[in-house]
Amino acid sequence: MNIHEYQAKALLKGYGAPVAEGVAILKVEEAEAAAKSLPGPLYVVKSQIHAGGRGKGKFKELGPEAKGGVRLAKSIDEVVAHAKDMLGNTLVTAQTGEAGKQVNRLYIEDGADIARELYCSLLVDRSVGRVAFVVSTEGGMDIEAVAHDTPEKIQTIAIDPEAGVTAADVAAIVKALALEGAAAEDAKSLFPALYKAFNEKDMALLEVNPLIVMKDGRLRVLDAKMSFDGNALFRHDDVKTLRDETEEDAKEIEASKWDLAYVALDGNIGCMVNGAGLAMATMDIIKLYGKEPANFCDVGGGAGKEKVAAAFKIITADPKVEGILVNIFGGIMKCDVIAEGVIAAVKEVGLKVPLVVRLEGTNVELGKKILNESGLAITAADDLDDAAKKIVAAING
Ligand code: GDP
Ligand code: MG
Repeated sequence: MNIHEYQAKALLKGYGAPVAEGVAILKVEEAEAAAKSLPGPLYVVKSQIHAGGRGKGKFKELGPEAKGGVRLAKSIDEVVAHAKDMLGNTLVTAQTGEAGKQVNRLYIEDGADIARELYCSLLVDRSVGRVAFVVSTEGGMDIEAVAHDTPEKIQTIAIDPEAGVTAADVAAIVKALALEGAAAEDAKSLFPALYKAFNEKDMALLEVNPLIVMKDGRLRVLDAKMSFDGNALFRHDDVKTLRDETEEDAKEIEASKWDLAYVALDGNIGCMVNGAGLAMATMDIIKLYGKEPANFCDVGGGAGKEKVAAAFKIITADPKVEGILVNIFGGIMKCDVIAEGVIAAVKEVGLKVPLVVRLEGTNVELGKKILNESGLAITAADDLDDAAKKIVAAING
């Protein structure tokens, strides 16, 4: 789960990290009061969307000459003018895709005088099984190019979970970022604070790009991107309240309500499966027969009829889906429950595309009987191979 920059900064502030003062607003009318509450004379107006690259982004409605989604302002009037320009318009960045994202919220911030822009992120480094800092002196808006062209300028410092961020770790980061004076002093509290926040809140990624050295020599978190491990959200009610569903895929939200693992893909066969292994096998065999999956929805182990019906509805809601393959191995899951769930969903939303069902395992005969007697146009398949062939043939007409 991702959150907005202004929320991430508030969270980091709670851990003692240096962030600017700022006010989030939803309406142009709120811009003036927001700016007046800040010290000035430099302000920053920042589009709040769940995507990076805002500074270099372009507003669809404003044409290629207009400024991007992060703008400096030298007066309160300028803040208001930027707010008018941005709110309600669609920002397209390298991370949003061509469709872009509508800007519904702005963050008005106290502007900083920047001496240097650095890069700092925290992530779970699977190769060493530890949380690691990834840092570079080349922060700012082109970190992807740095990673591609000069990867030696990016350094990784993995943290021992027993010891936490030690003085030696801080020294290594300070050296990698060439920090000195007040910035090196600030580093002693900032990096342990970032690590603490990352661990305590079960984050999957914390990216501060840029982390800046200001003209006065101090460090400041200028941008913050935060995402949380969805599997740990149950123990963070405070984080859950930060969710902005308007930023998320409607089908994925529906799936998460039902505790279903739904993944959207690019093809045209919708897949309902149970278990990640069976999902992989199902997608592989669809590809083997020349088609691509449109998505897969993993109903997991002990799903009931309602959950199966919800999964089926989510799959059919995708307009790309030209055919559906249900491939379930009934272990803990019973085939008759799957059959009843599918029939309930089909009766509710109708069946506009071919449906092939392959069931195997517990209560398979009962499951097949229920499907056969339903009177619905469902094609039964005997095994994985047969199922893939039948759904591809049905789509190809
Ligand atoms: P992103 O483009 O979505 O990553 O948004 P950022 O928050 O990283 O802002 C983009 C760029 O705007 C930064 O790299 C800075 O160069 C500039 N910027 C943002 N805030 C300030 C500020 O307070 N003062 C100055 N001078 N520049 C800023
Ligand atoms: Mg940034």
